[in-house]
Amino acid sequence: MNYVFNPTPTVSVPVAGKTERFPVHRIYCVGRNYEEHAKEMGFTGREPPFFFLKPADAVLVVNAGETGTMPYPSLTKNLHHEIELVVAIGTGGKNILAADAHKHIYGYAVGLDMTRRDLQNDMKKQGRPWGIGKAFDHSAPIGPITPAAQAGDVTNADIYVQVNGADRQRSNVSKLIWNIGETIEHLSAAWELQPGDLIYTGTPEGVAAVIPGDTLVGEVAGLGKLSVKIA
Ligand code: MN
Repeated sequence: MNYVFNPTPTVSVPVAGKTERFPVHRIYCVGRNYEEHAKEMGFTGREPPFFFLKPADAVLVVNAGETGTMPYPSLTKNLHHEIELVVAIGTGGKNILAADAHKHIYGYAVGLDMTRRDLQNDMKKQGRPWGIGKAFDHSAPIGPITPAAQAGDVTNADIYVQVNGADRQRSNVSKLIWNIGETIEHLSAAWELQPGDLIYTGTPEGVAAVIPGDTLVGEVAGLGKLSVKIA
C-alpha cells in the first residue's frame, strides 16, 4: 500500500509485565459518573450515562516509575484534573450485557481526563459541542495497562489524585453511578466496541485547576501510580 504521506504511527500504551503494547483504537469517556462530582458540576440524581470521545492520539503515555510532561494547553485559563479508572477493551462487540462485560475487558489503567473547564463551560452555555474543552492534544494522560487477572478487585479500589503532595480528589471506584459492566452495556448499544478502545469511566468530586509547575500523582489501588508534571 502506498500513501500520499507516511501514516501516523499507531498510538499504544505499555502493558505491565509484558513487552507487547496495547494499541489504542478510540477513547470513550463517561460524563458525571460519581454522584458527588455530578453535584459539584450542578447536577443531581441518576441520569442515564452519557459519553464523549477524545482522539486516540490525545493519550499522553507515562511509563511505570516515570513522570510524564504535559504542556499547558492553549486557549485556557482553567485546566482541570479528573482522575479516572480506565477500562481497556480487548474483545469488541455490540449490545454487550453488563453481566458479560468482563469477557471484553483486557485490563485497567489509571488515567487523567484533563479538561479546559472554561472552554467546556462556554460551549455548554451556548449549547455547542464540548470538543474543544475535552478532546485536545495530550488531554488523556495514562499509565501502563494492568491485565485484568493481575489487577485485583478494581470495583472496590481507592482512587485519588494529589497535586504537589496535597489531596485533591479521593474516593472509591465502588461509588461509580454506572458501574463498569453497566457502562459497557450502554456504550456498546451506541457504538460497536473494538479491541483497543479505552473507556475513561468518570471522575469523583474535587476537580480543580492546575498550573504550570504543578505535579499530579494519581492512583487507583492495584494499578500503580500515574505522575504528570504540567510544563
Ligand atoms: Mn471525566
